[in-house]
Amino acid sequence: MIVSKFGGSSVASATQFAKVKKIVESDESRQFIVVSACGKESREDHKVTDLLYLLHAHVSYGVSYESIFGLVVDKYKRICEALSLQIDLDREFDAIRLMIETNALIDYIVSRGEYLTARCMAEYLHAKFLDAKDCIAFQYDGQIDLEKTKNNLMSQIEMGERYVIPGFYGALPNGQVKVMSRGGSDITGAIIANVVDAKIYENWTDVSGILVADPRIINHPRQIPVITYSELRGMSYMGANVLHDDAIFPVKEKHIPIHILNTNEPDNCGTYILDDCREYDKKYPISTVTGITGRRNYASFTVVKSHSSTEIGFLRKLLLIFEDYHISVESVPITVDTFTVIVQKDAIEQCKYEILAKIQKQLQPDEVSYEEDLALVAVVGRGMKQVPGASGQFLSEFGSHKINIKVINQSADELSVVVGVSNEDFNRAIHCIYQRFIKEEGEHA
Ligand code: ASP
Repeated sequence: MIVSKFGGSSVASATQFAKVKKIVESDESRQFIVVSACGKESREDHKVTDLLYLLHAHVSYGVSYESIFGLVVDKYKRICEALSLQIDLDREFDAIRLMIETNALIDYIVSRGEYLTARCMAEYLHAKFLDAKDCIAFQYDGQIDLEKTKNNLMSQIEMGERYVIPGFYGALPNGQVKVMSRGGSDITGAIIANVVDAKIYENWTDVSGILVADPRIINHPRQIPVITYSELRGMSYMGANVLHDDAIFPVKEKHIPIHILNTNEPDNCGTYILDDCREYDKKYPISTVTGITGRRNYASFTVVKSHSSTEIGFLRKLLLIFEDYHISVESVPITVDTFTVIVQKDAIEQCKYEILAKIQKQLQPDEVSYEEDLALVAVVGRGMKQVPGASGQFLSEFGSHKINIKVINQSADELSVVVGVSNEDFNRAIHCIYQRFIKEEGEHA
C-alpha cells in the first residue's frame, strides 16, 4: 500500500482538491492520504496555519480575532461550496470558537487547518476520516511513540478502505493535542508509512522532484531522478529545502522509498529518495555530482597557537566556549596549530565579542581572528566515492574561474565536499560546478 502526503499548495483551493482526487483515484493502493492545512492560493493569499498562529496571538493579547477567523472560515466555505461538500462547517467552526473562548492551547488552535482540510478531503474522496489525535501518539517529552501509534492505527483501520489523516499533529498521553514543528505533515506521512509498512511514501508538493541546484541561482536546473537519504541530508542541511528533516528517519528505518512528486504535473517522474541506490546505479551512468547547494553568511573564528596541535584538550576547550553560548558549530577545519570554527553569522551576532574575549582569556592564543564574509558551497554526490581526483577537479574549476577558496572540508565518507568562498562568489561557484559536472558531464554521458 502507498501513503500519499499532499502539502499545503496541493490543497490550497477547490481546483487543487480536484487534482488530488484524480491522483488518489488513479491508484487503488493509495490507501492513506495525509494532508496539510490549505496553503496559499496566490501570492497575496495566506497559509491557513500562519493565520491560525496569528489568531492565537490576537487571543493572547486580548485583541479581536474576528477578521482572521473570518478569513479561515471563508477559505473552507469556498472549497466546500465549489465541491458541493455536505460537511457542516458552521458546526465545526462553532466548536473551534467555543474552544478558543475557553482558552484553548496554541497547539489545538494551529492544528485546526489540517483537521478541517482532512475532514473536507475525506468527504470529497469518499474516504474515512481518521483524526490524528487518535492515531499519532506523542510521549510527554515530545518524542513519537511508534508502538502506540501503530496500535492506535491498527485498531481503527479496515482492509480495503481509504483513509484521510490530518498531518502536523497528534496527542500527548493525556489526550491533549500537540503539534510538530512547522512543515510537520511530512513527518506524519513518514510515521504512517512506517507503521503500516508502506511500499512507498509519496510526498506530493508543487515542485517536480528535487533539483540539482537552486532554481533562483541556476536557470532551469536538472531534476535529480534518484538520491540517497544521506545525500539528501547533506543537501538539506546546507540549505536545500525539500522535505522536513525529521521525515527521513521513520521511513529510513524500514527502507521505504520516498517519492517526491508534483500535484500540478503528476506525470513528471519526480525524485526517488532511497536508502540504497546500488541497483539503480548499475543500470544508469552515475554522475560525479548529485546536487550542489550551500548558504551565504557564515562567520569564522581562527585561532593560532604554536604547539596547540599536540596539546591534548585544546580543541575541546575551544568548542566549549561556543557550547556555553548555545552556538551550533558548522565545521572545524584544522591545520597545524591553527583551528578555524565556522558558525552561522546570525547566531553569533550578539555574542561575537564575548566569544573572542573568552578565547583570548582561556586559550591564550598567539593570534585570533574573526571573519564574516564567508559562504559555504556543498557539492554532494555518491558518485565521488573512490573517484580519484573528484575534489581536485572542483578546486581547479574554482581556480580557473578565479574564485578564491577560503576553506575546504571533506568528510571521510566522501559524500560531500564543502568549500568556503566569499559571499560575493557564492553564485558563481555554484554556476561553475553546475556547468562542468552537470551540464558538460551530462552531455558526454
Ligand atoms: N501546516 C503546517 C505548516 O504550515 C504543517 C505542514 O504544512 O506540513 O507548517
